[in-house]
Amino acid sequence: MDFELPLEVRMLRDLVRRFVDDELIPIEMQVPEGDELPVAYLKPLQDKARKLGLWHLNVPKALGGMGLGLLEACVVQEEVARSKAIPFRLNELFGPYVDPVLLDACNEEQKQRFLLPALKGDIRVCFAQTEPDAGADPASMRTRAVRDGDSYVVNGTKRFISFAGIADWAEVLCVTDPNKRGRGGITCLMIDLNAPGVSRPKRWQTMMGDTPGEIVFDDVRVPVTDRLGAEGQGFNLGQRYLTAGRVSGQAAWSLGVAQRSLDMAIDYAKVRVTFGQPLAERQAIQFMVADSAMELRTARLLVYETAWKFDRGDDIRNESYMAKLVCTEMAGRIVDRALQILGGIGLTKDLPIEYFYRQIRSLRITEGASEVLRWRLGRNLMRERS
Ligand SMILES: Cc1cc2nc3c(=O)[nH]c(=O)nc-3n(C[C@H](O)[C@H](O)[C@H](O)COP(=O)(O)OP(=O)(O)OC[C@H]3O[C@@H](n4cnc5c(N)ncnc54)[C@H](O)[C@@H]3O)c2cc1C
Repeated sequence: MDFELPLEVRMLRDLVRRFVDDELIPIEMQVPEGDELPVAYLKPLQDKARKLGLWHLNVPKALGGMGLGLLEACVVQEEVARSKAIPFRLNELFGPYVDPVLLDACNEEQKQRFLLPALKGDIRVCFAQTEPDAGADPASMRTRAVRDGDSYVVNGTKRFISFAGIADWAEVLCVTDPNKRGRGGITCLMIDLNAPGVSRPKRWQTMMGDTPGEIVFDDVRVPVTDRLGAEGQGFNLGQRYLTAGRVSGQAAWSLGVAQRSLDMAIDYAKVRVTFGQPLAERQAIQFMVADSAMELRTARLLVYETAWKFDRGDDIRNESYMAKLVCTEMAGRIVDRALQILGGIGLTKDLPIEYFYRQIRSLRITEGASEVLRWRLGRNLMRERS
C-alpha cells in the first residue's frame, strides 16, 4: 500500500500552491466578497493560470480540458481554498464554470448549443433543485413539467439557487411523474432564464457574501430538445453531481481553509508574547495546535481515499457523506481554535479568519445538511449489514 500521492499529482499540487501563495494570498483582502470575482481581478488571474497550463481542469481532453480526476480536483481545490480571494460557489479561476451535469448529460446537438458556449464563457448555467418546501428533502419538490406535444410546460418555484441572478440558463429539476418522484419521476430541463414566464424576483444576502436567488416558472414552454438526459433521469443526474461535489467541493475546500487557519495560528503563536512568553510555549495553545493537526490529517486521508475510489469507478455515496461530515465539522473546529489563538486581530477584517469562520459554518447546511447525511449514512450501513 502506497499512501504517497502520485508524482504528477504532487507536481500539480505544488504548482497550484505556488500560484495561490504568489497570486491569490497577496490580493485576498482587497477582493470584494460576493458571488463572482470582478473581471478586473479575474481576467489577469485567468491569463496567468492559463499560461501555467491550468485550464478547464475537470473538462475531458477531447473538449480541450485537462481531464483531471476527482483526486486531482480535490488537491487543487484544497490549495485554492487556502485563500479567501476566490468565491466558493463560482470558482472560475481555471476557466468558465461548467458543472458535471452539463459535461455528462448533453447529447451531440446540446453540446453545440449549451456545453461549448458555457466552456467559452458565452453563457452561464446554474443548477436549480431546491424549492421553498423542498430543501434537505429534494425528492419532495413540486415544480411540475407536463408534456404537451414537443414541449414541456413548467410551473413552480426554485429558491436559494447560486448565481441565479447572473446565469443565462438553468438546469431545472422538475417532477414529470408524481408517483415515481426520486425513483424515475424527476427530469432535468435546460431553461432559458430570459424566456417568457420566467422571473427572478428575489436574491438573498447571506453571511458568507453569496447571494442565491429565487426563480419562478409560470407556464414556461420548454422544447423537449432542451431536456438533459432521458425523462425521469434528472434526480440521478443531480445526485451524481452532488456526490462528487461533496468531496471535491465541500470536503476538499474545508481542508484548505483548515490548513490556512492552522498555519496562521502557529505563525502568530510563535511571535505573540504574553506574560513574558510566546503563546507557542503555552500548553493550552500547543494542545489546540496538536488537536487541529490530528483532525486535519485524518480528514485529508479520508478525502484522498474517497476520491481515489471514485476515480477507479467505485460507488462512493457513503464515503462522500463521511468526507463532507468529517471535513466541514473538522474545519469549523480548527477555524474556531485559530480565531481563539489570534485573539482580537482574528476578529477584524484585516485577516481572512473571520471570513473563513462564516464560510465554513455554511457548509454544514448546504448540499446536504449534517443531520441528513448522518441519518442516510447510518441507514445505508444498517441496510448493507442486513
Ligand atoms: C448560499 C447557498 C447556495 C445554494 N445553492 C444552491 C444551488 O445552486 N442549487 C440548489 O438547488 N440549491 C442550493 N442551495 C440550497 C441548499 O442546498 C439548501 O439550503 C439546503 O439543502 C438546505 O435546505 P433548506 O434550507 O430548505 O433546509 P430544510 O430542509 O428546511 O432543513 C432545515 C434543517 O433541518 C434539519 N433537518 C432537515 N431534515 C432533517 C432530518 N431528516 N433529520 C434531522 N434533521 C433534519 C437540518 O439541520 C437542516 O439544516 C443553496 C443554499 C445556500 C444557502
